[in-house]
This record gives sequence, structure tokens and C-alpha cells, in this order.
Amino acid sequence: MAVKESLQQTGGLWFGWSGKLGDDTPGTNSEDVKLQSIGNVQLATIDLSRQDHETYYLGYANDVLWPVFHDRLDLANFNVRFASGYRRVNQLFARKLFPLLKPDDIIWVHDYHLIPLAAELRAMGCSNRIGFFLHIPMPPPLIMAAIPEHEWLMRSLFAYDLVGFQSEADVTHFTHYVESEAHADALSRNRLRAFDRKLRIGAYPIGIDVDDFAALAHGREGIEMFMQIREEYSRRNLLIGVDRLDYSKGLPQRVHAFRELLELYPENRKSATLIQIASPSREDVKAYDDLRCEMDSLCGAINGDYGELDWMPVRYIHRSVARRRLPGLYRASRVALVTPLRDGMNLVAKEFIAAQEQSDPGVLVLSRFAGAAEQLKEALLVNPYDTQGTAHAIQRALTMSIDERVNRHTALMERIRRFDVHWWSSTFLTALSRVEADDYQEPVFPDNLLL
Ligand code: UDP
Repeated sequence: MAVKESLQQTGGLWFGWSGKLGDDTPGTNSEDVKLQSIGNVQLATIDLSRQDHETYYLGYANDVLWPVFHDRLDLANFNVRFASGYRRVNQLFARKLFPLLKPDDIIWVHDYHLIPLAAELRAMGCSNRIGFFLHIPMPPPLIMAAIPEHEWLMRSLFAYDLVGFQSEADVTHFTHYVESEAHADALSRNRLRAFDRKLRIGAYPIGIDVDDFAALAHGREGIEMFMQIREEYSRRNLLIGVDRLDYSKGLPQRVHAFRELLELYPENRKSATLIQIASPSREDVKAYDDLRCEMDSLCGAINGDYGELDWMPVRYIHRSVARRRLPGLYRASRVALVTPLRDGMNLVAKEFIAAQEQSDPGVLVLSRFAGAAEQLKEALLVNPYDTQGTAHAIQRALTMSIDERVNRHTALMERIRRFDVHWWSSTFLTALSRVEADDYQEPVFPDNLLL
């Protein structure tokens, strides 16, 4: 969504998967590009065949790259068919995109589905500036090295002019990887040389549109939601969690920590309620189904063990809530629990801050393993694997003085306002357009960047 907003401002071409599956029957051509104009943006989309959807999207993207980049090697499925599907679809995208490009276009390639796209474009003779932004975390070198094709993946990043990451920790992981695995020279903190190429890298933490989100809090649906929740929970302290139902989000660990809170600090029984929104995600991947069963069971157990006729500790909702209603929910909550085991950034953390009343703000409990933790130091930072430590932090959040809440919120608000979504896209694009002349190289290296 942030990329869409940025493109609407500059105008340009958006190219990608339509989200639809094409007809695989012989004689039909599911690989045709469909063109459409929306305002100053031209949309070019392409359907995927069922087989490519299975191997490229469900397979390599969701079953290899997503788990490994979130440090979950135990959930990765290194099926060789997936790797070739990933390569094939990136080649297809490059083939379809290349004729649509103008010589002075700057190309922004976004996220892990498209790592080898620039290498494929370069092989066709594309000499445009190309930047890549990794929206998810960069894993530590030895975790990365578990992917059978890791060298090819990381080498193909050197076909870009600039690679952007969410955090400095990601930049460090990437630098250490290429130093140890590819004998890269660090020319400076943000310039690397390897595979006969120079590459600029940097941390560009993604932000939100703060004013836009704060305005949503005062929109009709934001206010309705706020009033409704405030009334219903007038005698309770509300804690809120809003996540996709994803194993990276640490949802079972969060429920364990909340249970520990009720054990260690029994004064919260009958007074604290956790609303956990878990929006459905990737339901055709088994690990997500397992997580759903685990959450059903954990939430059922905590409510069965601690619930009373007039109080349930957890309200667990396995559905999405419209984004325009969320600010009302955030505003009515005393504490937000944003405790992923690993997250590229986590925008819910920033949205919670933006939605608070300045004079009586809620408190953010934030995992140190979310990219957002590098920026949001005034949140209460926790290790989500440490159940007791997280429970203590939640108690601290619930009992924090108003002065401390205001001071922390003021600092956090200042930070998310300064590094908002407009800062993010313009800084990345400016850096890409300014890649120094001496870093520019003729694109004559198809062989060393391809598999
Ligand atoms: N979101 C939403 N409705 C929901 C759950 C989430 O609109 O029921 C939105 C949320 O407001 C945020 C985004 O989805 O803008 C989630 O982004 P985040 O970076 O926190 O996590 P991701 O899902 O990208 O891993």
C-alpha cells in the first residue's frame, strides 16, 4: 500500500501479478499483460498459471523465503520444483516488463518475491537504475546459508544499484553474509563490492502516513468504534493485539504471557481484557492451519480456566477488521501488545501510536525483534520468548503514571512523524537516483549473475 501511495504521487507504471490464476488449457494465453490506467498510474498485470502459483508463490515465496527470512528454518520446505518455479516466474516477469520500460525510467522492485528480477532484466540488456527494497527481515548469514540457492539469491541482489532494508540490523546481516560467503569488500558502511559489482545498501525504515491515520481516528467509523468499545469496556483495562494470523507474530507466546500476567498479578483478573484480532492469512499453507488450531486451543483454555460469568480474559477474533475502524480500537486501549518473534517493521506499532490521545495515551509493548524496535525505543521493549519478562512489562504498562505515558508517547510520536511513509519513499528514491556516477556500471554481466 505504501508503494502504491508513493507511485500515485510520482505517476508511473505498476507491474505485477494480477492476483488471478490464468487458464492453463492449451491454446489460451494466460501470460498476456493486461494494461489499465488509473489516474497517472498505468497498471500492467499478468495472471499466473496454476503450476507457477503453486511453485513460485505458495512454494518458494511462502514456504521457503518467508519462513527462512523470519528465522524459521523448521518450517521451510526446500523442494527443488519451488526454486525453478521462482526462477521461471521472475524470468517471465522480466520478459513482459522489459518492452514496457522507457530508457529514463527508475525501477523500484519491491520485496522477496522478486529478488532475481533485476538480474533477469540486465540479461536482456536493461540499463535503467534499479533499486530493490526488502520489506521483510534479512536473516543472519548462517540461517540464509541454509537455503540451497542462497548464493544465487544473494548474488542476484548485486544486479541492483541500491538495495534497501528496513533496519540497520538487516544491513549488518547482509554485509556479514557477503563478507563471509562472497569475500565482499566493504568500501564504506553503505557500499559493497562483490561479484565484480559495486552495490549501495542502506536502511530505509518504512513509516505510515501519520496525519492520515490520525484523521481516520476522528472519522465516523473510527469514532463509532471508539465509543462502542469504550462503553463496553468502561470498567476494564483493554489490551489490544492486531496481526495477521502468522507464525512470525508470536501470538501463542503472547497468550502465554497474558496468562502469566493473570497468575503473577491476580489484581488483573476481572479487570484486564485482551482483544486479539487475527486476520486470516495464507490459509492454504499447513503451518498457518496448525497455528489456527493452537490459538483456538490456547484462547479456549485461558477463558475456561480464568473466565467468570461476567468476564472473559481473551476475546480472540479470527477475522479482519477494516483499517478505518482500527484507530478507534487502538484509541480505546490502554496497552498494545506488538510482540512478533520476528518482523521486518510492524506498522501496527506505529498506527497505535498515531491513534492515541496526546493527553492520555496508551502504552506500546513492543518486541525487540520487530524492525520498529530500532526506532521506537520509548516503547516497553520485550523479548517475546521470555514469558515472565513480557508479563512484567505488561503490568508495568498497565500501571504506568500519566506523566511517563505522555513523555514516552510524545517522543514516539515525534519519531513516527519525522520518519513517515513520505520520508521513506522519497529517501529511497532520492538515494536510487543519486547512485554516484562512479558506481554506475554497464549492464554486461548476464553470465555471472544468473544461475
Ligand atoms: N490490518 C487491517 N485489519 C486487520 C489486521 C491488520 O487493516 O484486521 C492492517 C494494519 O492496520 C496494518 C497492516 O494490516 O496496516 C499490517 O501491517 P504490519 O506491518 O503490522 O504487518 P504485516 O501484515 O505486513 O506483516
